[in-house]
Amino acid sequence: MDKEEILYFLEHPDEEEKLFRKADEVRKNRCGNDVHIRGIIEFSNYCCRNCRYCGLRRDNVNLNRYRMEEREIIDLARRIAATGIKTIVLQSGDDFHYTRRALCRIIERIKQNDDVAITLSVGERPFDDYRAFKLAGVDRYLLKHETANSDLYGSLHPGQTLEQRLKILAFLRDIGCQIGSGNIVGLPGQTCDDLCADILLLEKLDPDMSSVGLFIPQHDTPLSNTPAGDLQTALRVLALARTATQDAHIPVTTAIVTADPETGLVRGLRAGANVIMPDFTPETCSREYAIYDNKIRITLQEAKEAIRTTGRTVSKTRGDSLKQNSCTYRDIGTGKA
Ligand code: SF4
Repeated sequence: MDKEEILYFLEHPDEEEKLFRKADEVRKNRCGNDVHIRGIIEFSNYCCRNCRYCGLRRDNVNLNRYRMEEREIIDLARRIAATGIKTIVLQSGDDFHYTRRALCRIIERIKQNDDVAITLSVGERPFDDYRAFKLAGVDRYLLKHETANSDLYGSLHPGQTLEQRLKILAFLRDIGCQIGSGNIVGLPGQTCDDLCADILLLEKLDPDMSSVGLFIPQHDTPLSNTPAGDLQTALRVLALARTATQDAHIPVTTAIVTADPETGLVRGLRAGANVIMPDFTPETCSREYAIYDNKIRITLQEAKEAIRTTGRTVSKTRGDSLKQNSCTYRDIGTGKA
């Protein structure tokens, strides 16, 4: 799609059924009917950054902070693998309490225990950390670009730049990680042109995974009084991300399901998504992973029900990248990649 066509669909909600059908057709042709289930462990809600929209920001003193022990994370990964899930997503705030060595230990143990893929999402780190994570066995790294408008990015992420984010993604791809990027829909001040730029950036990045979130305010942040983003717009952006990135793996994000707990999963799957990520974080911790208000907890059962409702099938594979030029198994000089 060119810029005019993307803007047309963003600005014409009345045409969204046409867009959803088109995206679903692309999904079917390029990804098939399998839906990949990835099990998430949100192992720490500490964060050294101060993103203005996020409840984990370091200045939020009202949040009860937690860190899971290495052993707890490894044991939980085993239990997730025992359900048949083939990808473990390890996610946290930018928390340097977990050193390079500690994260490598966790990654190595999980890979020794089970034949699973690991997606890591621990934010911005020194490049040598990423190299070490890859050598330890990480398969994929998720680092959303959040918004392609660099001024908006700068105003929402104090001390961080979009340029650095994109440099990290390029580096991760170079060292052989499958990469995931994506945006947030409904950020304050965001325009249709910005969303169009997000889609065009995704097309250019051609990531192995694309993710479309939705801004939902968190009561202890500077944006607590900002209205939430529009769910229908987020679904249209998801559909446009599918048409732009073709065979990328696209999840129905938790934010979309939070905005529509009853039917969000099904609507996301019908708008072009092919991944669901149920949350396996222990409940006492999960309720403190308060990146936005009323964040829902997607269960494995809900994921399977939504897949059944849409007439699709649960994938039995790891769901690695479908990209022809994917770096998944590229040797980076150690024989371990
Ligand atoms: S968005 Fe990520 S980096 Fe920013 S404060 Fe939240 S957890 Fe930290």
